[in-house]
Amino acid sequence: MEEDNQVFFWIKSEGQERLATENRVPGNQVYKEKLIIKKNIEYRLWDPFRSKLAAAIMNELECFPFENKSQILYLGASTGTTVSHISDIVGSNGIVFGVEHASRVARDFLDRVASHRSNVIPILQDARKPKEYFSVFGKVDVVYVDIAQPDQTQIAIDNCEMYLKKGGYFFLVIKTRSIDVTKAPRKIVSEEIEKLKSRFEILQTIDLHPYDKDHAMVVSKFKN
Ligand code: SAM
Repeated sequence: MEEDNQVFFWIKSEGQERLATENRVPGNQVYKEKLIIKKNIEYRLWDPFRSKLAAAIMNELECFPFENKSQILYLGASTGTTVSHISDIVGSNGIVFGVEHASRVARDFLDRVASHRSNVIPILQDARKPKEYFSVFGKVDVVYVDIAQPDQTQIAIDNCEMYLKKGGYFFLVIKTRSIDVTKAPRKIVSEEIEKLKSRFEILQTIDLHPYDKDHAMVVSKFKN
């Protein structure tokens, strides 16, 4: 990656190169992650055991469309761990719309992330009702979905149809156990991929082991 166009960084900490993003809110921690200053720039370590996007990077994610100025729709923001790192990456001219329906975690999302970061727009809504996200304007570059619901693939497709640019990218975290406890994980993943194939070009499927036991990530591109 070019030095002046880096979206994430490898920073030495405790004898190891660790994944990090440049902190858009210096001094501010979101999940007690370590802050490291190098050459006057503050970085936040990005923990692959806490963020599935970081786990995917550790496991050879090939396509990373989160860039300076990107617009992202993120379903299942939870307390905002991953959203906060994407916010670091897309910068002040980018935007992350974070959808979360559970009021308790949404409160932490607001306190820890959205209230400190002007490029994060919290949407306290059910991802099953994409027509009710009144604050999303235009189409986004990436839809990222991590909602752990049995019908998450259909919810995700409905959101992409409404908000994803043609040729945009779609990241789907598949919680294999939440879909059907009786099926083998590989079978569940291939069944979910089948549902995507007519509308999406599948680019990569990543097993998130050892960082995350029961998840896979499918990266795809919205067909024109
Ligand atoms: N992506 C988060 C991260 O990396 O920090 C973790 C997401 S957690 C596994 C799943 C989240 O999706 C939960 O906070 C849950 O409340 C939310 N969720 C589940 N169903 C939803 C729905 N229908 N609409 C909006 N949020 C939903």
